[in-house]
Amino acid sequence: MPESRQNGLLGLDIQELSQLALRYGQPEYRAHQLFDAIYPQRQGSLDAISTLPRQFVSALKSEGVEIGLPTIEKRFQSTDGTIRYLLAMADGETVETVWMPEGDGGEAGDGSEAGDNDWQRATICVSSQVGCAVNCQFCLTALLGVKRNLSAGEIVGQVTAVLNDRNVDLERQRVNIVFMGMGEPFLNYGQFMKSVRLLVEGVGFPASRMTVSTSGIVPRIVDFGGEPVRPKLAISLNAPNDAVRTQIMPINRKWNLELLMQAAREFPLRNRERITFEYVLLNGVNDQPSQAREVVELVRGVRCKVNLIALNPGPGIGFATPAEENVRKFQTLLVEAGIPAFVRKPRGRDIYAACGQLKRTVA
Ligand code: SAH
Ligand code: SF4
Repeated sequence: MPESRQNGLLGLDIQELSQLALRYGQPEYRAHQLFDAIYPQRQGSLDAISTLPRQFVSALKSEGVEIGLPTIEKRFQSTDGTIRYLLAMADGETVETVWMPEGDGGEAGDGSEAGDNDWQRATICVSSQVGCAVNCQFCLTALLGVKRNLSAGEIVGQVTAVLNDRNVDLERQRVNIVFMGMGEPFLNYGQFMKSVRLLVEGVGFPASRMTVSTSGIVPRIVDFGGEPVRPKLAISLNAPNDAVRTQIMPINRKWNLELLMQAAREFPLRNRERITFEYVLLNGVNDQPSQAREVVELVRGVRCKVNLIALNPGPGIGFATPAEENVRKFQTLLVEAGIPAFVRKPRGRDIYAACGQLKRTVA
C-alpha cells in the first residue's frame, strides 16, 4: 500500500526538526521554535510564526515546505451537536474526523447535549487510514477498501484542524481523543504511535485522555502493551464465539478469539485501568441472551468494561438494528454477571457521523 508522502512540517518530531534546521544552516533553537508553533500553538502557516527570521521562512517556502494542516472541505452539523468534518490532505485524499461535544455518548456525564459554545467536554474521533482493509461486514468504512495509510502528521493534523475550527483552549477545556474513525490504527502502527507521542509531547494531551480501538491485530496489541506512553485500549469484540465472529469480522480467521482473549488477559494494565470491549449488536446475529452469557465467559479474567453499540444502519449493510429492549436485556445480563456494561448513545447518525458510518458521504 502506498505511504503518504511527507507533505509538511506537521508530523516531524523535535529530532527531525533539528535536522531540518541544521540543513538550512539555522541554530538548534529554531527547531524548538518550529515545534512550539506547530504543536502547542497550532499555527497553520509559516508566515504566522513571528519568531522565525524571514529569510529562513522564504527558504523553506521556496522548496515547497509548509506546515501542512489538512484543509476543511466540508462540515456536517448534527442536531445533537456532533460535527462531521471532511478533511483534505495535501495529495487531495480525504478523511473524516468527528467532533462530539459533551462526551462521547453514554456512560459519563449527564447525557445532555451541548450547543456550539456551551460544552464542558468534547471528544474528537480521528481516522488512521483512508478507508479500511479489515472488511467487517457491518461497517460502511469497509466498503471503501483501504486507499492508503495516514502519516503521523495527517493524524495529528486532524486534531489541530478541529481544535482550531472550534477555538478550543486546551488549558481550560477538556477534550478526549479516540482513534476510532476510518481505518485500523494497528495496521498503521508506526505512524499511529508517532502521532500519539506528538499529541502528548507537542499538542498537550495526556495519554490518559486517548483511547485506541482495534479490530484485534494481536501482535500489535502485544507491542502496544510494551509502550511507555500509550492511550487506553479498546477491542472490537462484537461476537460471542468464533463462528459468529468469523462471519461478521473476517479478521477472526487470522487471529481468533483464543489468541485475542489471551492477548487481552496478558495485557499490562495500569492502576485502575480497564480494557474496553466494544460490541456492536446486530439483530438476531449476536444479540441473544445465550450469547450474552457466552460473552460473560469470554471476558472472565480480564479487568474490563463492555460498551454496547446498537448497529448504526447504512446502505449496503445486511444487518438490522435490534430493538431497544433487546439491547437493555443484553446489558442487564452482563451487569448481573458482574461485568460493567454501557449502552453507547449514537452520535450524529443523521449526518453519517456515528460509529461505522464514516464513508466520506458528501451530502
Ligand atoms: N477499526 C477500528 C476502529 C474504528 S471502528 C475498530 O474496528 O476497532 C470503531 C467502532 O465502531 C468499532 O468498535 C466497530 O466495531 C464499530 N462499528 C463499526 N461499524 C459499526 C456500525 N455500523 N454500527 C455501530 N458500530 C459500528
Ligand atoms: Fe475497519 Fe474498524 Fe470498520 Fe472493521 S469496524 S472495517 S476494522 S474501521
